[in-house]
Amino acid sequence: MTGKRANRGQSARPPGDVAPAQSTDLAGAPLSAGPAWDYAPAPESRDIVSIAAEYGLFTGGEFGPAADGRQFPTINPATEEPLALVAVAGPADVDRAVAAARHAYEDVWGPMPGAERAKYLYRIARILQERAREFAVLESLDNGKPIRESRDVDVPLAAAHFFYYAGWADKLEYAGIGGASGVGVTGGNGGAGRTGVAGGAGRGMAPRPLGVAGQVIPWNFPLLMAAWKLAPALATGNTCVLKPAETTPLTALLLAEVCQQAGLPPGVVNVLTGAGRTGSALVNHPGVDKIAFTGSTEVGKEISRAVAGTGKRLTLELGGKAANVVFDDAPVDQAVEGIVNGIFFNQGHVCCAGSRLLVQESVADTVVERLRDRLATLRLGDPLDKNTDIGAINSREQLDKINALAAAGQAEGAQRWSPPCQLPERGYWFPPTVFTGVSQSYRIAREEIFGPVLSVLTFRTPEEAVAKANNTPYGLSAGVWTEKGSRILWMAQRLRAGVVWANTYNRFDPASPFGGYRESGFGREGGRHGLAAYLAARPAGQQTAQPETAPAGAAPPDQSPLGAAQPARLGVRKTYKLFIGGSFPRSESGRSYPVTGADGALLAHAARASRKDARDAVAAARAAAGKWSGATAYNRGQVLYRVAELLEGRAAQFACDSVNAEGLSAAAAQQQVAAAIDRWVWYAGWPDKIAQVAGAANPVAGPYFNFSVPEPTGVVAVVAPARPSLLGLVSVLAPVIAAGNTAVVVASEAHPLPSITLAEVLATSDVPGGVVNVLTGFAAELAPVLAGHMDVNAIDLTGVAAGGRGELERLAAGNVKRVFAADEDWAAPPGPRRMLAFTETKTVWHPVGI
Ligand code: NDP
Repeated sequence: MTGKRANRGQSARPPGDVAPAQSTDLAGAPLSAGPAWDYAPAPESRDIVSIAAEYGLFTGGEFGPAADGRQFPTINPATEEPLALVAVAGPADVDRAVAAARHAYEDVWGPMPGAERAKYLYRIARILQERAREFAVLESLDNGKPIRESRDVDVPLAAAHFFYYAGWADKLEYAGIGGASGVGVTGGNGGAGRTGVAGGAGRGMAPRPLGVAGQVIPWNFPLLMAAWKLAPALATGNTCVLKPAETTPLTALLLAEVCQQAGLPPGVVNVLTGAGRTGSALVNHPGVDKIAFTGSTEVGKEISRAVAGTGKRLTLELGGKAANVVFDDAPVDQAVEGIVNGIFFNQGHVCCAGSRLLVQESVADTVVERLRDRLATLRLGDPLDKNTDIGAINSREQLDKINALAAAGQAEGAQRWSPPCQLPERGYWFPPTVFTGVSQSYRIAREEIFGPVLSVLTFRTPEEAVAKANNTPYGLSAGVWTEKGSRILWMAQRLRAGVVWANTYNRFDPASPFGGYRESGFGREGGRHGLAAYLAARPAGQQTAQPETAPAGAAPPDQSPLGAAQPARLGVRKTYKLFIGGSFPRSESGRSYPVTGADGALLAHAARASRKDARDAVAAARAAAGKWSGATAYNRGQVLYRVAELLEGRAAQFACDSVNAEGLSAAAAQQQVAAAIDRWVWYAGWPDKIAQVAGAANPVAGPYFNFSVPEPTGVVAVVAPARPSLLGLVSVLAPVIAAGNTAVVVASEAHPLPSITLAEVLATSDVPGGVVNVLTGFAAELAPVLAGHMDVNAIDLTGVAAGGRGELERLAAGNVKRVFAADEDWAAPPGPRRMLAFTETKTVWHPVGI
């Protein structure tokens, strides 16, 4: 084995032993006092993880040994303890994995409707959440990062990526990469280059996937990088062969197990472990259509040359040497926290780390002094201890590289400083280190160290800060700290970096595109832009091939108990009340009305809401509006997706209701319920995308940033259509709340029962009380109250016959309500139109200047 594991020497001391206090003040600067108190150890138990002695490769849905039986050890960098033996994939294994991915692409995954793919991704996201602690512990063991980070950052963000891209899988025609675009989405730049910037704007068709994606990832965020690669590739219909880094294979293998648990068809995801040679074999394999690589610029350039002329699409996320720029008006304590987070998060093993601190000369001494004080409080040690801030360096090779560069910094004349800190004897450790007196020509200011080492430089004017910040071949990220908003935007315009953080640092979100300028690579991961790396605009005339039946290998539909012989007993009848503010009150008037089935038999008595009930429902919706619209878009999406899960659990009951109420056959009722749940899933994926599709950056004249964002309209009254009772209700309600509004629903007068069952589902979900309120009763009594209500902002009259809408529209004019009504083919795929009808566009002007 030639990889870096081979270099890891064994030491004589037992794990946990600590070495004597390590060097501290090499520059002769006074040391700070350190923490006033210490923390008792709070180790996370590793019992939750069972690590196998050996791991195979994951190809075609199964784990198996490498063809030539080769293995390598993966070890815990904090203790040098071997964790497991892992298979080394050779050329024959790469062949096998690519063939499995090709079959899965052609037979199952490529032709599968996006809505079906979405559900697999949602399942993966859920299992990641359910097994979150296990993943976090395993990541910290194999990588050396503090459990606080793996638990609070890596694992939740990985799940969030699968959630986010699950929601895109059935909306690709709205992503602006060729396809239907009824919402003014920008269409890209026309044509798809090998850099993955797809464009073209055909209408009415989804763009097409590329095929088999070969994905090579590094060791600094092993699970998260796997999620960044897999989620958009799978959402867009590609299949994947993933090569994790040699030193951190275990969470990728656990993720492979999650794919099995999610029922993902065999071959859709394949995981090949091994060293750089495995990565190289994958990159050079002729059966791969697209390469996505994250790692060093050096290897990125090598891959770029290897791929040249092959027609393979390529995206590269490479190194960085980011400037974190602190102006003299910045709040110093906040900036210091940002500097610490920028360079010491994940031991500085971060491609976008703020490794060059550019601080305005007048405050440089103060900032460096406060920084030293703060560093003295950081705790370095056992990555599984919940108090640990700085964990282990990932490998002996990486530690050697950091040591060599730090020594070069000293030799070139910079002053080196570290806080007092004990390094454990075993494992790979490097103390947080700050270099002052750094010149731009020093290696520590030019080269990516990928460790907890900060170089401090100074500047006098904003122009000088920009010139120094941009004085690097890299361009991945930058930070700006100042109180002045216009200066932030002035800097943001001039910094040559793919991500600019203002008064914050190292923030990531699946909805936010991430990627580099210049030698930091090309292509974007995350957000709507992240889809482009895996899609090509569909040539004119080529239709989306969607099979009529479920594709081979797809999970069978859940069996429904409908049709099974019912036991002869008298059922307990349910009371159908109203749903207001999260509770189920009877009608204030004490009235109800009989609901009969298709055969005329009495099904139930439903509450007949009064004018007072309608007003109470509006008050409840208003009270909930701030909480719902103020929740993060991601959160709202999660909450709505959870509703879909609960609906699935009630599918049989909904189908029974529809059989009785609408006189449908069992099969037709099941179909309607399935369509309603799928529609709910479709809308659940929108909250964190609507701003990307409907928002815009507007190119106005003058020194201004001008951008538009959609905002919810407020309280929306919805008159639900009579039939199909559940699908119609979901089709009008889900878009209203997905867009961030709260709703007062007037249920179908003839078929109100599914709306109350839906309310019961909502009541047991995480949807806050008052976000949805359901009134049963007579639409002729309730709709005018809502149309005329001064605290209702919009009304959907889809459930009112066309002839009856005029009077309601007149009432709605009283407070300039938005009125929407569209007679729909409920079986047709939905679009964003119903959400956009209940959003407002806010445009913001912000001056740009120094
Ligand atoms: P590499 O770029 O070598 O590794 C990244 C991934 O590529 C790993 O999975 C690696 O496999 C694989 N790989 C290596 N060589 C090839 C090849 N010829 N063809 C295809 N795949 C290949 O990074 P290192 O781990 O060696 O780290 C070296 C330096 O790179 C670090 O010190 C740091 O400066 C920088 N780096 C930057 C990252 C970033 O995100 N910007 C991430 C990681 C490193 P294997 O690990 O098995 O060798």
